[in-house]
Amino acid sequence: MLSKEGAPGAVPIDKFFITEEPFYLPQGREVELAEAAHANRLPLLLKGPTGCGKTRFMEYLAWRLGRPLVTVSCHDDLTTADLVGRYLIRGGETVWVDGPLTLAVKAGGICYLDEVVEARKDTTVVLHPLADDRRTLPVEKRGELLRAPADFMLAVSYNPGYQSVLKELKPSTRQRFVALEFGFPPPEIEARIVAREAGLDPETAARLVHLGGLTRGLREQGLLEGASTRLLVHAGLLLRAGIDPEAACLAAVCEPLTDDHEILEGLREMVRAVF
Ligand code: ADP
Repeated sequence: MLSKEGAPGAVPIDKFFITEEPFYLPQGREVELAEAAHANRLPLLLKGPTGCGKTRFMEYLAWRLGRPLVTVSCHDDLTTADLVGRYLIRGGETVWVDGPLTLAVKAGGICYLDEVVEARKDTTVVLHPLADDRRTLPVEKRGELLRAPADFMLAVSYNPGYQSVLKELKPSTRQRFVALEFGFPPPEIEARIVAREAGLDPETAARLVHLGGLTRGLREQGLLEGASTRLLVHAGLLLRAGIDPEAACLAAVCEPLTDDHEILEGLREMVRAVF
């Protein structure tokens, strides 16, 4: 594959456009707020637990805005070069290959950094000039300073619930963003999501959502986080495949949540009470 610069192996931006409308049920005014942020060239910070729709929301937003979406799952080995790009030897030649952030900046796309607090501090420093009104990306290895076009948007997510204090975003970083809080949707909305995503009848979806709500009340008993919408959708898919409710919920909801036998027993009782 050839990029505009002819680097073999570079990823073409075309494959990052979302051509079909993703299914997304809003929890509040997040769509309107994010569109206003984009129009005003402000970066987005999505806060919320895992599996509550942040990624789906970004896909929906990218589709609405007609911009390509480049998503990066952050981890503690992620380097600046992973984001910005690097020289590679290909077929005996040295070629520059853009990283996902550079790709999105050049194309006026949306770069979504999932779980940004997982990334190393020196990696997130490259985001600062992009997140404030300079809107620039220094590509140091090439001695370039890229100016982001109006359509470019930086979006990051993090989960305030289980990040250690050490890993909290620095105020200097977070105060650059428009922040949207995502929680679990209200039960009626979550039931519609589970029904649609898993292809279930409303009654069964409502039961799964009820189970989800019960698990979310187990924090005091030592459960870090309750079942996410994602887990409920997974349970729904197993149910649809003909697995009985207890086995489906045990495998898709309870076991992924904990290894603690006592808590697992409590969860199992909840499943029996709901189905
Ligand atoms: P996150 O990025 O917050 O970890 P995802 O966006 O991947 O979570 O959501 C997990 C799954 O839950 C999605 O694949 C989708 O099936 C479902 N989901 C959650 N919230 C919504 C929503 N508001 N509209 C549609 N689907 C949703």
